[in-house]
Amino acid sequence: MARSWLEYKTQAWVQWCPGCGDFGILNSIYRAVSELGIDPENLAVVGGIGCSGRTTYYVKGSNFHALHGRAIPVATGVKLANPSLNVIVAGGDGDLMGIGGGHFVALGRRNLNITVLLFDNAVYGLTKGQAAPTLPAWIKTKALSMPNIHDNINPVLLAFAAGYTFIARGYAYHTQQLKELIKTAVRHRGAALVDILQPCPTYNNVMTNKWYEERIYYVDQEDGYDPVIRTPEEFQKKAPTIAAKLMEFGDRIPLGILYWNQTRESFEERLEKIMPGYMSAPPATRRIELDGKPF
Ligand code: SF4
Repeated sequence: MARSWLEYKTQAWVQWCPGCGDFGILNSIYRAVSELGIDPENLAVVGGIGCSGRTTYYVKGSNFHALHGRAIPVATGVKLANPSLNVIVAGGDGDLMGIGGGHFVALGRRNLNITVLLFDNAVYGLTKGQAAPTLPAWIKTKALSMPNIHDNINPVLLAFAAGYTFIARGYAYHTQQLKELIKTAVRHRGAALVDILQPCPTYNNVMTNKWYEERIYYVDQEDGYDPVIRTPEEFQKKAPTIAAKLMEFGDRIPLGILYWNQTRESFEERLEKIMPGYMSAPPATRRIELDGKPF
């Protein structure tokens, strides 16, 4: 049953800059978890280092602010220790695509039931705006002395290659649509990514709201694009079209649910196969063992 979003608001002072896209993401998280009726006791937000990491202080839950790049390993431990928790990772593109890139890939391989919210502003906002892994080549923001000469990582394409089974992209200022994407991602059983394009008005003076609004569009407004995979055969058939959609990032940037594989088994289901009863055991008695020995 839906709850009031105020139940999830903490007393912490929100320290982001005026106009930051993080406010829209925070608002969307409040609305999503309240409409899903998740008890704050059953919610765990795990943050990395960066402006986005402060989300762990602003949403009521059993949260953890992890080391740089390590939000996903901590979230994995939280989920395996207590699978009944709804686990959300809140990390920036520097944290999740840079130092935490290996962990991001590992979560896709496992398809563990965790929702990753990628606060994607293309800069390292917390440390004065250096180029982050999602900043396209040749963009020169005001914090850079020269244009960026690295090509950018495409998080949704990387997630597809790694094995994430739900992949979406939202925009921080479109809170209604973003809330719905987060709700669907949390409900999905498996590794879910919502790549959230997020203006950083303080350091990224190129990828502004105007820059995004000139490029973004919602895939569900396009005739014939169906991101849902219901059978393995359907994956073979649709994979090239979906990959082409995921690669699109330039003059046009697709938003919405880009890929949703409903056929692949989750890590929890595999664990249950080798250790029947693990998922339903009370947290205090849960041990990962094989043949009676710690695994
Ligand atoms: Fe937001 Fe950028 Fe300020 Fe960080 S530096 S709080 S991302 S506007």
